Amino acid sequence: MQKYAVFGNPIAHSLSPLLHNAAFGALKINAYYDKILLQTGVCISDEFRAQNLSGANITVPFKECAYREADVIDEMVQEIRAVNTYVLKAGKIHAYNTDAMGFFLSASSKLNFKNALVIGAGGTAKAIATVLRREKKDVFIVNRSREKLVFFTEGGFRADLGERLDYFDFDLVINTTSAGLKDELLPLPSDKLESLAARKPFFFDVIYGKQTPFLRFAQHAGLPFCDGLDMLLWQGALAFCHFQEAQDVQQIHSIMERAILAKGATL
Ligand code: NDP
Repeated sequence: MQKYAVFGNPIAHSLSPLLHNAAFGALKINAYYDKILLQTGVCISDEFRAQNLSGANITVPFKECAYREADVIDEMVQEIRAVNTYVLKAGKIHAYNTDAMGFFLSASSKLNFKNALVIGAGGTAKAIATVLRREKKDVFIVNRSREKLVFFTEGGFRADLGERLDYFDFDLVINTTSAGLKDELLPLPSDKLESLAARKPFFFDVIYGKQTPFLRFAQHAGLPFCDGLDMLLWQGALAFCHFQEAQDVQQIHSIMERAILAKGATL
């Protein structure tokens, strides 16, 4: 039997085992997907090999160290410098970032857009900004503090603390911060969100499983919006297609969607 897992800390809440085991079951593949709590400071590639895994997903806070410890990375991962998927091929660890394209497939299924504002400058913002630029979208990044913006300004992105938001049009506004995850905070001051809302964009929150203040704001303003559950499904389906080659990503997305809806989730 092939073994797969997701590494993270915390990890108890992860939906990845549900999604991947549903796909293995539906396709009658003899494989099992587990979750593994890692202590910070542990070498993730050693743990991956010690567990005798064929593939893995990597979540907070290990995505950057997983990037540094991979043997083979593709061009987009090189740009993002964070990975969420490992696959063992001929003894080498190949690393991918499916958050990036997972976001793009989800957003594109909901709207046509040209100009996106990314709120936040962490790992998820890097993945999303990179894929948007590769897909020829205009991207602007705003963050509450300067330090993490350096990655973007050095990479040629337009990014600031929010001073220039009034000068640009946005048809998509994405919350990639953890504001609203465990608190009731907005990712930007409400006057800035109101000014953005006047341009009638789509509000996308990468957080899933709860209605964040950001999404409540969109609802009250009469704007179209969505949470990050469909993004989670797409990143999972894309990771699965790295684990098991020659799979149809749309079919895997549908299997995973059915599994999550059966658990009472709402899309
Ligand atoms: P990081 O810790 O790397 O980055 C967090 C960012 O949020 C930083 O830029 C930080 O700003 C900003 N931030 C944190 N708190 C606030 C606040 N109260 N107000 C404004 N800005 C804030 O996180 P990740 O990028 O790894 O993850 C972000 C979110 O994305 C998580 O909620 C995660 O669950 C979700 N996610 C969802 C996925 C999906 O499939 N739906 C996939 C991957 C992630 P500063 O630089 O000032 O600290």
